Amino acid sequence: MIGDLLSNNLRWAATKTRMDPEYFRRLSEQQTPEYLWIGCSDSRVPANEVVGLDPGELFVHRNVANLAPSQDANFLSVLQFAVEVLRVRHIIVCGHYGCGGVRAAMGGRRLGLIDHWLSPIRALHDERFEEMAQIADFETRVNAMCEANVVAQVRNVTANPFVRDAWAKGQKLEVHGWIYSIRDGLIRDLEVSVSRQPGPAPKRRPRSQPAIVGRVPPGSKPRLVHVCTPDCDHDH
Ligand SMILES: [Zn+2]
Repeated sequence: MIGDLLSNNLRWAATKTRMDPEYFRRLSEQQTPEYLWIGCSDSRVPANEVVGLDPGELFVHRNVANLAPSQDANFLSVLQFAVEVLRVRHIIVCGHYGCGGVRAAMGGRRLGLIDHWLSPIRALHDERFEEMAQIADFETRVNAMCEANVVAQVRNVTANPFVRDAWAKGQKLEVHGWIYSIRDGLIRDLEVSVSRQPGPAPKRRPRSQPAIVGRVPPGSKPRLVHVCTPDCDHDH
């Protein structure tokens, strides 16, 4: 029942105050988060909780399939405020495996307005079609696309003029690409962090040879991932 939420809120606020009488006073005085989180709206990925941060420590933007589109006024407003006013030190694009938005973009069904929102993922899937076609299992393919989408959004963020201006002014700012697993609650770093203005784009790999990056534990299958961001630090 909707009324339960308000009762829950009363209990929550009372518990917080009991545990730390200064908690809300401190929070109300200022907001100085070091991190901007760009994540999916999926209700199973509560941003603060999965990284163990309190309110006030993480500036959060969420949308379906954790996109960072350069034409979205909502996203751009959040990004500019985070970079120029809050001066966050890290921007984290965090996707998640099994993302319904990514799955919807890969399927052929028309769903409505969301089809327009998800069109960048559909375009990415078309671009990577041969690579993805090598993965027989659909859910594994969805997960590979979830990773590829995070990398594409990291690239969008690093290409954004607000971010580039910050780097040009010498502001310390790192952009990271992570992915969360709802199955085990763990975040994997896709190791595509960028901390400065990228140089010229690297040569593209032939599509028949998908990139394999990340630490691969002995005995486990390597993950198909992405074409690296321009200045990533992988051993290629
Ligand atoms: Zn999702």
